[in-house]
Amino acid sequence: MKALTFGGKHSKELVEKPKPSLVKPTDVIVKITKTTICGTDLHILSGDVPAVTAGRTLGHEGVGIVEEVGSAVNNFKVGDRVLISCVTSCGKCDNCKKGLYAHCEDGGWILGHLIDGTQAEYVRIPHADNSLYHIPEGVDEEALVMLSDILPTGLEIGVLSGQVKPGDTVAIVGGGPVGLAALLTAQFYSPAEIIMIDLDDNRLEVAKKFGATKVVNSSDGKAVEKVMELTDKKGVDVAIEAVGIPTTFLLCQEIISAGGHIANVGVHGKSVELHLEKLWIRNITITTGLVSTNSTPMLLKTVKSGKLKPEQLVTHRFTFDDIEKAYDVFSNAAQNKALKVIISNE
Ligand SMILES: [Zn+2]
Ligand SMILES: [Zn+2]
Repeated sequence: MKALTFGGKHSKELVEKPKPSLVKPTDVIVKITKTTICGTDLHILSGDVPAVTAGRTLGHEGVGIVEEVGSAVNNFKVGDRVLISCVTSCGKCDNCKKGLYAHCEDGGWILGHLIDGTQAEYVRIPHADNSLYHIPEGVDEEALVMLSDILPTGLEIGVLSGQVKPGDTVAIVGGGPVGLAALLTAQFYSPAEIIMIDLDDNRLEVAKKFGATKVVNSSDGKAVEKVMELTDKKGVDVAIEAVGIPTTFLLCQEIISAGGHIANVGVHGKSVELHLEKLWIRNITITTGLVSTNSTPMLLKTVKSGKLKPEQLVTHRFTFDDIEKAYDVFSNAAQNKALKVIISNE
């Protein structure tokens, strides 16, 4: 089968590999029909995730059809159409029992990281009963690819960790796919204002269409002043950091109001400054995390009912043979006005 593999720092290869086979009775083999590329895949290619070794198939998002089923799998049968969660979880260990699937003792984020991922014709999914979801009849499968990672990440680590409430003023720093996912899901909780902050006017336009009430272009270095102006100098109740660099985390600290929540979603590669000398007296909560995807069943219902329309995030489509082109487009997202790219195997 074809697979897109990590070839060492700054290198990837489209190669022929043997089709995966069942290793444990709790495994399922899925034939991938649609997958996508995540910012995390780009971090891996830049060499930021040293646990990924050369030859590893990348990708942790996708939908497909069950091809083979281990003898201990109860919930799935050959031919079922399934959504693959970016997080693998046994459902039985102490962390899984707490709903903390991200830290499953025999799983977590392993796909396209510690085991071969979804940017291939077939993938092996361990602990399939807890790590796959049935695709409801009549739901757009492209939309569901957005539910493997970015929608649960934006919701759980941004909106829920940030405790967005009715009437809140929310700032989202970073209008990439995960920031936009936070924007879409924040609206479940009826905040009064959602301010999107980004450097790119195109992304800010997209954010307005997705429900941002105000937008701030931060390229002039005046984002703090602009947010303070928009909030009667009070700052925001919730600041969601969806970039992962020191300046954006600093911006969140400067615009947060007393009693506010800073929810860090971004993947950081460098240490950041924490101004505790200013924040200690202001009753601020700072949260971080890796998505557990335990909101996926809820998100599936909201997509099925039409409340949530994640297909809006798809801007480009490729066949699997053109996956390297898809990487080029996604790597230069601003220039190509790209959000999420869909790679089809059908
Ligand atoms: Zn991802
Ligand atoms: Zn577990």
